[in-house]
Amino acid sequence: MNREPLMRMRIRVEQDVFAVRQLGREVAREVGFEAQDQTRLATALSEVGRLLVAAGRDADVAFTTTADGVPTLHVELAHPVPGDGARLRPQLAQVTRLVDTMEVGDGETGTVVRMSRRLPPSSPALNPDRMDEIRERLAEHVPGTPFDELTVQNQQLIAALDEVRAQRDDLARLNVELEETNKGVMALYHQLSDELEETNRGVVALYAELDEKSVQLRTASEAKSRFLANVSHELRAPVTAIIGLGRLLADEASDKLTTEQSRQVELIRGSATDLLSLVNDLLDLAKAEAGRIEPHWSDVDLKAVFGQLRGTLRPLATQPDVDFVVEEPAVPRMRSDEVLLAQVLRNLLTNAIKFTEAGSVRLGVARVGDNVEFTVADTGAGIPPELHERIFEEFYQVPGSHALNGKGTGLGLPYARRLVGILGGAMRVSSVPGAGSTFVVSLPVSP
Ligand code: ADP
Repeated sequence: MNREPLMRMRIRVEQDVFAVRQLGREVAREVGFEAQDQTRLATALSEVGRLLVAAGRDADVAFTTTADGVPTLHVELAHPVPGDGARLRPQLAQVTRLVDTMEVGDGETGTVVRMSRRLPPSSPALNPDRMDEIRERLAEHVPGTPFDELTVQNQQLIAALDEVRAQRDDLARLNVELEETNKGVMALYHQLSDELEETNRGVVALYAELDEKSVQLRTASEAKSRFLANVSHELRAPVTAIIGLGRLLADEASDKLTTEQSRQVELIRGSATDLLSLVNDLLDLAKAEAGRIEPHWSDVDLKAVFGQLRGTLRPLATQPDVDFVVEEPAVPRMRSDEVLLAQVLRNLLTNAIKFTEAGSVRLGVARVGDNVEFTVADTGAGIPPELHERIFEEFYQVPGSHALNGKGTGLGLPYARRLVGILGGAMRVSSVPGAGSTFVVSLPVSP
């Protein structure tokens, strides 16, 4: 803190207001303020001075500096009229904007106006030598006449106007730049939206093509189902006739056949029976695919269904080392189509029996969340993991798999899966070659 004033002066008459203005500018210049800040300070000083003189009493002006922290110039104007702050404060509101701090102090001995402004970082350090130097120069300062001050003020006004014009030109240039940038942004935006539109058109075209292809696919699939249904239907009558004729030929009551003839008739009957089961399977599948199977929903007694399956399939489970187990159903009843459900479980159990040489074949049912899950588990040959989906394709049979009885058609699983779909459920398989397979049929409790 350097409280030894740089300069003092007293304002008595109006003329002194011009002098204090000039002095203020000089002090500001000496301590290192730039031209604009010099004018700001001088204007603030002359305005406060003018207001104090108007009160009709002398005012003392003191300029000091502080160098601790940010170097700052302080100006104090004091006059001995106590309690004049209330009058001054509102009038000084505008002046406050010209300095960093401004306060009006009211005391018994008089009124004090204190202003301060921080020096710019570029100003030279305020050490004692420099302060003395500044004091000397200010002492030499001879105040000019009001006319001189007017001239200076005019010059400052011109400089300020020049600056305003320069700023206006800058603003105009900036506006032009902004306009150009805007144009660029708009161009980019248009380009992007054009590209987007083109991409959208492409996607729409692609979707149209996709729709067309799926219609074609559906038509082809319907044609296939129709063909299968027609052919199998047409084949059923003659094949049934062949089986009937074979039975007639082999009948005791008919003419006796030679041993060779009997063997050949048996072969014909066996082949025709295989053919009939293929034709029947095909017809069933075609019907399911054509959506011509309507489920008949009813309250199904699972105990009865399981009992029937146990009875009809036990004769097929002829392997001495295989336990054929149809558990007591843990879910006694459910809403479903009894015939279709029994058909599905029969297909799965027949497969399990066909491919299991030792161990067990087991049917069970359990409630799992909102579903009823039927499980057909065997300890048979198993299915390689990469074929778990393929076995549901029509006519697909795992290469090298040997059914223990009957040849099979490769239509049982695709048909069963169709039926499960019609019943509103899903079928999944898990299987390890050599360890066995588990087929799970999951049906909703309320279809
Ligand atoms: P099919 O039994 O008449 O051959 P499916 O569609 O029922 O036709 O089964 C397709 C193939 O899936 C079978 O040929 C067999 O290779 C395999 N498979 C089905 N079930 C089992 C099973 N429980 N264990 C092992 N392989 C099975």
